[in-house]
Amino acid sequence: MYVDSHCHLSFPELSERIEQIRADMAGAQVDRALCICTTLEEFDQVHALATRYDNFWCSAGVHPDNEGVKEPSVDDLLKLAAKPRVVAIGETGLDYYRLNGRSVADMAWQRERFQVHIDAARQCALPLVVHTRSASDDTVAMLRDAGDLPASGVFHCFTETADVARAALDLGFYISFSGILTFKTATELRDVARMVPLERCLIETDSPYLAPVPYRGKTNNPAYVVHVAQQLAAIKGLPIETIGRATSINFDRLFPRITAN
Ligand SMILES: [Zn+2]
Ligand SMILES: [Zn+2]
Repeated sequence: MYVDSHCHLSFPELSERIEQIRADMAGAQVDRALCICTTLEEFDQVHALATRYDNFWCSAGVHPDNEGVKEPSVDDLLKLAAKPRVVAIGETGLDYYRLNGRSVADMAWQRERFQVHIDAARQCALPLVVHTRSASDDTVAMLRDAGDLPASGVFHCFTETADVARAALDLGFYISFSGILTFKTATELRDVARMVPLERCLIETDSPYLAPVPYRGKTNNPAYVVHVAQQLAAIKGLPIETIGRATSINFDRLFPRITAN
């Protein structure tokens, strides 16, 4: 019924209790999850989840916040993308939230890393899982400059304005909403969610972070994606089953390798 389009089950908060998490997912009718890679060093562990369990898949990429890790080349990403059960490139993108005294100009390394992911996605025709924080202008500009990509992608854990959402939709991207949608203060984001057509919406937990209300502040896990679906259903004035079905269909459409193998 439901799919968690973005979670980090290889992180220590969750990796120690995978069987319990899987039982909780089954109890909540969360059938499937996409396990997201954030460093090359982490890839084998994320990939192992996707090969061990038939309802988990994974991505290959290096998160923009990660420094002091192995820098990926296009070839590195293409090698990982060729492995079975890898269905996306990312998470990748730009994050200027924690500049730590640096200027945006100093973050050229992040833009270069994002470009490597865009080039890899073009060559292997896999969709991009895009992370953007305090950097939406540059993120959209780089994707626009990339021109037509064979498989578009998703702006995950969306927290940006309606204008950014429209720009992402114009680029052919999907918008994924996380537990932030349930936060009391997220009025503007709920307005954005009302505007995004349901056929372009995904839902995610980004667990272990960002647990939705009523679990806010606790460790998140994929079973809680139902609370994101519930909130989206209330915003759209639709039954939760409709949200579950539509976001599952969107997930299959965006990540066609999931149904291909
Ligand atoms: Zn992210
Ligand atoms: Zn993430």
